Amino acid sequence: MQKKYLMTPGPTPVPAEVLLTQAAPMIHHRTPEFSAAFAEAITGLKYVFQTEGDALLFACSGTGVMESAIANCFCAGDKVIVTRNGKFGDRQKLIAEAYGLEVIDLAYGWTEVVRSADIAAALSANPDVRGVIVTQSETSSGVLNDVKAIGEIVRAYDECVLIVDSITGIGAVECKTDEWGLDVVMTGSQKGLMLPPGLAACTVSAKAWRAYERSTLPKFYFDWMKYKKNIEKDTTPFTPAVSLVLGLNVALSMIREEGLENTIARHSMLADATRKGCEALGMSLFAPPEGRGSAVTPGWVPEGVDGKAIVKVMKDRYGVTIAGGQDDYTGKIIRIGHLGYFGEFDIITTLAALEMTLAGLGYAFEPAAGIKAAEAVFMEG
Ligand SMILES: *Cc1c(COP(=O)(O)O)cnc(C)c1O
Repeated sequence: MQKKYLMTPGPTPVPAEVLLTQAAPMIHHRTPEFSAAFAEAITGLKYVFQTEGDALLFACSGTGVMESAIANCFCAGDKVIVTRNGKFGDRQKLIAEAYGLEVIDLAYGWTEVVRSADIAAALSANPDVRGVIVTQSETSSGVLNDVKAIGEIVRAYDECVLIVDSITGIGAVECKTDEWGLDVVMTGSQKGLMLPPGLAACTVSAKAWRAYERSTLPKFYFDWMKYKKNIEKDTTPFTPAVSLVLGLNVALSMIREEGLENTIARHSMLADATRKGCEALGMSLFAPPEGRGSAVTPGWVPEGVDGKAIVKVMKDRYGVTIAGGQDDYTGKIIRIGHLGYFGEFDIITTLAALEMTLAGLGYAFEPAAGIKAAEAVFMEG
């Protein structure tokens, strides 16, 4: 037997309390019982999104809700600014192009933060832009983009919506939907919400509903208005992912019990410990100091070590699954997730497995330096 640990930024570990809901006998979704659970889920989602506006819930992975944002806010030929500094920003651009939008491409390196001044400049040069699309927490790079500052800029444009992929942001970092003027904020179940994959959610502001009214792109399953009208009756337009919705309520009640601010503070502490642990092992951090999120810590693989081997040995020999780099960074970086159901000892475990793996691969470092650095962060609290 080998005990296994899932230390990736999606899917993320699922608490036993949530897993148990997945084993309960199926209930029908057109019942008062499900309606009550669904209403509770929508209320809980509004809490984590920090919105008084609409929150919609879909049976799909995160990419489904990303696609829904494009289909529901725009017309073919609309101009949108897509910022990208990682794999998920790239995906936003591909989706926008698939729907025939004219993309103003604000592309950055993966170790760079999106500059809000560039968005301000692109908007004043193109006042007919209908949307700005930003990834708040880039899971591929660990970079955190400043959606608060971007919100302040886009707020001034009445006909332009700000769409935020916060799929690994929600529950891990501050994301104040209403206060920051974010029109559409998206998340997915297998990330900070501590659920299996299969649900995605988004907020819709009054401005985004105006964009919806104008939008002529084809939509059916993801037609936001169908969801809104059904939410008013505590139900869904199509068969919901019943078991996941029941699990969502358990996960959301755990977040409420901890308090969202404390959940975010816990993530920040876990991220800090992971960073210090990696640095103590002589690894350089991938994301720049001015924009590091708390969902995942990517670090450069030390000189002379095979990055793919680190991931493989950690998984096969020690049962600890972390993520490798994507696209150009395959084999060059490793990514340690600490998103959702994570505590101090998950970080210690991961760093210990990393140390044993690095030692096994012939890399020289001060033994136990990583866990020692992480412990120091935890003891400070
Ligand atoms: C996981 C993730 C998504 C969605 O990916 P799916 O595999 O479709 O769930 C989108 N954006 C970010 C930043 C993500 O981390």
